Amino acid sequence: MAATIKVTNPATGELIQEVKADTEEEIHLALRRGHESFRKWSKTNAHERSRLLKLWSKKIQEHKDDLAKIMTMESGKPLHESLGEVDYATSYIDWYAEEAKRLYGRTIPANTESKRIIVSRQPVGLVAAITPWNFPAAMMTRKAAPALAAGCTFVVKPAEDTPLTTMKLIELAHEAGIPADVIQCVNGYGSEVGKIFTESKYVRKITFTGSTPVGKLLIRDSASTVKHVSMELGGHAPVIVAHDADIDLAVEQTIASKFRNAGQTCICANRVLVHESIVEEFAEKLTKEVKKLKVGNGLEKGTQIGPVINEKGFNKIVSQVNDAISKGAEVLCGNKYNANREKGYFFVYPTVLKNVNENMKIMQEETFGPILPITTFQELEEAVNIANSTPYGLAAYFFTNDYRTGIYLHEHLDFGIIGWNDGSPSAAHAPFGGMKESGIGREGGVEGIEPYLETKYLSIGGIYK
Ligand code: NAD
Repeated sequence: MAATIKVTNPATGELIQEVKADTEEEIHLALRRGHESFRKWSKTNAHERSRLLKLWSKKIQEHKDDLAKIMTMESGKPLHESLGEVDYATSYIDWYAEEAKRLYGRTIPANTESKRIIVSRQPVGLVAAITPWNFPAAMMTRKAAPALAAGCTFVVKPAEDTPLTTMKLIELAHEAGIPADVIQCVNGYGSEVGKIFTESKYVRKITFTGSTPVGKLLIRDSASTVKHVSMELGGHAPVIVAHDADIDLAVEQTIASKFRNAGQTCICANRVLVHESIVEEFAEKLTKEVKKLKVGNGLEKGTQIGPVINEKGFNKIVSQVNDAISKGAEVLCGNKYNANREKGYFFVYPTVLKNVNENMKIMQEETFGPILPITTFQELEEAVNIANSTPYGLAAYFFTNDYRTGIYLHEHLDFGIIGWNDGSPSAAHAPFGGMKESGIGREGGVEGIEPYLETKYLSIGGIYK
């Protein structure tokens, strides 16, 4: 296993810090500690767990500025987005600090007077999480908060590109009074740590956010010890703009959805399907606004689009754009880069493409970059068929002012998250997650604690002889 992980600033390519990679023995030890501390933590009363979670949230808020700066430096996202992510991350802790107190059981009427049946919930055990680089704070708290609230213990392996935010969050959890063995961070390369997690008899649940191929591997490898799995995988979100849509709103919300974090979010708009009667007006207005977006270092004031995370991500974006252009796509703006492979920074200017079709890679694969392809449709049914045609089913968006169109689209789109005239649907109180190859399980809302709980029932007999 590698001894260190070099964390660089994607806006400059400069080294920020070398992080020690944990050895195999250290990771096993962390898992054993997590397992051993489970009994005690799971028996800590729910109000106490709630209190500690609230203290953690408070600590994070006290360190909001430092955390946001670390996040921008290691992930590249604009500072105002990092500040927003700290709030978003704590919103999950706040929500689950309350949910911890609502883990209700129930009684079931028995089929004889002499019995009682009581159903209760208990935490699954030690949870191992693997998180991505695109939301280094929120993807961790969205898993850790419900896990700890349920009474599970938690070990996280952050993405190699962005371990620093997570390490700081774990440090703050300990400062808040959450015992050191209850929430831990280990560092290392995905495939190596993933293998240790999936093979460990101590880990009872794997929770993962990242790419679909890695999710499939983790599901397969978790089978040997029949672990619980929660998977938050890729997306390929369609935006459907109906003929009666408020075009200005659709433009504004599509931009909000697509260009946040330089298009590197799993629910971001990935393809826009516009009714052919309004496509010219929509494309013109959209392009005019997209051209105004400022590209730069996330630490500089006014930056709206930071660099993409790394060379691998950059190559994928460029290959999708070139493929689309070679097959006839028209460039309305962008298709411009500021990249330096030697230094290691990769900026992609926001790009709008028209005349795309389903034979292009960009209409089939997740892009993870600030590229927006536009195509047209005539009938709603056709738009639904295109929208549902990929293996993904995470988020979809539509814009219409006709309630019949809205209900039709809601009922026919196979996606876990749907925004109707709304490009930013994600919230701690709502169940985030995907259908088909976009994942298993939900994070957020009352549903988000379920994957961390087992159901147990007790049948009491001999009450009346
Ligand atoms: P990835 O899935 O490889 O990485 C995400 C996490 O998984 C990281 O912590 C990584 O260390 C870990 N990992 C990698 N290989 C692993 C393995 N074999 N076993 C266990 N863990 C492993 O994603 P990436 O390479 O960073 O990005 C590739 C693409 O994945 C992106 O372009 C995007 O399409 C998608 N992605 C999606 C999300 C999301 O939020 N759904 C997040 C990141 C990446």
